[in-house]
Amino acid sequence: MQAVDLSRVPVVDNHCHGIKREQGFEDLASWRRAFTESADPGMVRDHIATTALYRRLIKNLAIIVGCEPDEGAVFAARTGRDGRELAGELLRAANVDTFLVDTGFPSPEEVLPVPEMGELGACRAEPMLRLEVLMEELLQKHDSLADAKEALSAALDDVRGQGHIALKSIAAYRTGLDVREWPEQEAERSFRTYQRDAETGSARLVHKPLLDTLLHVAFVQAARQEVPVQFHVGYGDADTDLLLGNPLHLRRVLQRSDYRGMPVVLLHECYPYTRQGGYLAAVYENVYLDLSYGIPLLGYGEMLSFTRQALGVAPSSKLMYSSDGIGVPELHWISALDGRHVLGEALGEMVSHKELNLPEAESVGESILRANATRLYKLQADRRSPKD
Ligand SMILES: [Zn+2]
Repeated sequence: MQAVDLSRVPVVDNHCHGIKREQGFEDLASWRRAFTESADPGMVRDHIATTALYRRLIKNLAIIVGCEPDEGAVFAARTGRDGRELAGELLRAANVDTFLVDTGFPSPEEVLPVPEMGELGACRAEPMLRLEVLMEELLQKHDSLADAKEALSAALDDVRGQGHIALKSIAAYRTGLDVREWPEQEAERSFRTYQRDAETGSARLVHKPLLDTLLHVAFVQAARQEVPVQFHVGYGDADTDLLLGNPLHLRRVLQRSDYRGMPVVLLHECYPYTRQGGYLAAVYENVYLDLSYGIPLLGYGEMLSFTRQALGVAPSSKLMYSSDGIGVPELHWISALDGRHVLGEALGEMVSHKELNLPEAESVGESILRANATRLYKLQADRRSPKD
C-alpha cells in the first residue's frame, strides 16, 4: 500500500483557538498541561508524558528546535526561544491557508489577536463567534426573555457582515446536545432562575430551557443566512458529560426542514462517536464532519482509525480538516503534519481497494484539507487566500 502524498497541500484549519501571548512556561508541568484535557494534578505529574501524542510530539519537536529527542531537552530548547518567533516558525511549517479561530476561549486578553496569528503563519485568519459568550453578555443587559431573544436575533442579523465566518456552540459542555423546544413558561422560569443565579454569583449559562430557547433563535438566523454552526461534540475536558455529547442527540435539530439552510459542523470527529457523526453526515445534507488531528490527543493508529471510519461512511465532500489547537503553537503545527500523513495513508488504502484511483485520491485529500472548507465557509467570496 502506497500512501498518497499530501505534504504540499496547504490546510484550512476550520476550527482552532488562539495562541497564548505568553509562551514562557515556568516549569515542565505547566507546559505538559497544554497536552491534556485533564485538570487533575496527578495526571500532569505522573501520566501525561506517557501518552502516544506526547511522545510523538517530543520526537518531532526535537527536530525543529535542534536537540536530543528527550522531554527535558525539548522543553528547555523551546522555552529558551522567543515565544512569537517559535509560534511563527511552527505555524509557517504547518503550511496553513486559513485559520478559523474560536475567539470565545481562551479570552482575547490572553491570546494573540486573530490578525497576528495570520501574520505569524503567513496565512489568513478569521474569527468565529461563540454563541454562549454572546448570550451571556446579552442576558446581563436585558430584563425579560422576550427582550433577550430580540437582542440576540438583532446581534446575529448579519453574521458575515459583522466579520464572523461561522458560529460555534458549546451546548455539549453546558446542557447537552439534545436541544429541545420548550413551552414558553418553562423558558421564562429558566430565564428567572438564570437571573437569580447571575445576581448571586455565576452568570454561566447552564440553564437548559433558556439555552435551548436561545439556540433556536440563533439557528433561525444561521439558516436564513446560510452561516455554518459548529458544535462541540464528544471528547473534551471533564466539564463535558460525554454521554450527552453524542451527536445522535442533535436529531430534533437536524430533523427540522426549516433549518436545512444551516450547515451543521460536528467538531472533533465526534470522538469517540466518529461512526455516529459520519452517519449523520451521510444522511443529512446540511451535516459536515470535522476531522481534528490536534485535539483529541490521540496516537497515530487511533487517528488512522477515525479517518477510516469517517471516509468509510460519510461522503468525502462532507469532511474537513482542523487542529483544534489551543494555547501553544505546537498543537496547530503537529496536527497539520499528522493530518496530512494519516489522511494520505487512509486514502492510499482506498486506492489499493480500488475505491479511488490515484488522481481521485489526491483530489479527495486536497478537498478534505482545504477545498471543502473554502467552499462551505465561503472563504473565497470576499477575499482570495494568499496561497492561491
Ligand atoms: Zn475547540
